[in-house]
Amino acid sequence: MVLCDSCRSRRAEVYQPHTGRRLCPRCFLEDVRGRVTAEIQRYGMIRPGDRVLLALSGGKDSFVLLDILAEIHDPSKLVGLSIEEGIAGYNRREDMEKIRKYASERGVDVILTSIKEYVGSSLDEIVARSWSRGLNVSPCTYCGTLRRRIINHYAKILGVDKTATAHNLDDEAQTAIMNLLRGDPVRLLRQHPLAPRLSRGFVQRVKPLRKIYEWETTMYAYLKGFRFQETECRYIEMRPTLRARVREHLYGLEERHPGSLLRLLELVDRLVKKLMDKYRELPELPSCRVCGEPTSYNREVCKVCELLSKAGVLADL
Ligand SMILES: [Zn+2]
Ligand SMILES: [Zn+2]
Repeated sequence: MVLCDSCRSRRAEVYQPHTGRRLCPRCFLEDVRGRVTAEIQRYGMIRPGDRVLLALSGGKDSFVLLDILAEIHDPSKLVGLSIEEGIAGYNRREDMEKIRKYASERGVDVILTSIKEYVGSSLDEIVARSWSRGLNVSPCTYCGTLRRRIINHYAKILGVDKTATAHNLDDEAQTAIMNLLRGDPVRLLRQHPLAPRLSRGFVQRVKPLRKIYEWETTMYAYLKGFRFQETECRYIEMRPTLRARVREHLYGLEERHPGSLLRLLELVDRLVKKLMDKYRELPELPSCRVCGEPTSYNREVCKVCELLSKAGVLADL
């Protein structure tokens, strides 16, 4: 029997390539929780007393986020938000119920809402209209943009201090590389945990799992016996090609050189931190002339209004 490299008493069952250690389930779970806690404290992501809105999709990462935050933060200060996208065969009530039930066992209430409730059309309806107009916009673009907007909308209504999403290290490393490839320094800065809000219209977003590998959130969910949603979204093949390619390359890199993604994100964090003072001097973002929400510096109309109007869901601008 191989003993755990941490406690030296229980059987090792999980190999962690980026540290070269073999851990028992209990020490592995503690390691993940400890790293999440350290990342939160390192950047002051969540402070005692903060009210936090957790975006809970029902997937494995959202179970892990909920589990760890309910453990290290006062559950009465947490509230969950589950957004039904409106994708046939993907959104299932029972999956939403599973995360809601688990949250309620941990003392956290969950609000259920939908894209349809916010814009009047489900994601499937928006995508169908977009296709009928011959637009070449990935369903993931509508989905991601609208989900971010809805999370911020509820955060403002509820008056919470922060919103927390379950993005993991793989997601964050992909995003960093994409921002570099696009040559977009403002986005790279915005990804940093210390980036100030560029508008009073945004509630501060935090990503407590950003240094945890995706295989680790999967393992955590498996060891804890979470019954998370495993159905694949039917638009998965249509995700933006750049992200899909970056994702593939990074997997290959990590496989041959374990720890690469972690070192990459840490390097980006350190470099970007040096630029933060410049970033603080940026002016407040302008407001969208249609919906009044914050928009980018070079835009009169925000991304949400632009996408919805091109798809024919909103009146033409
Ligand atoms: Zn152990
Ligand atoms: Zn707008």
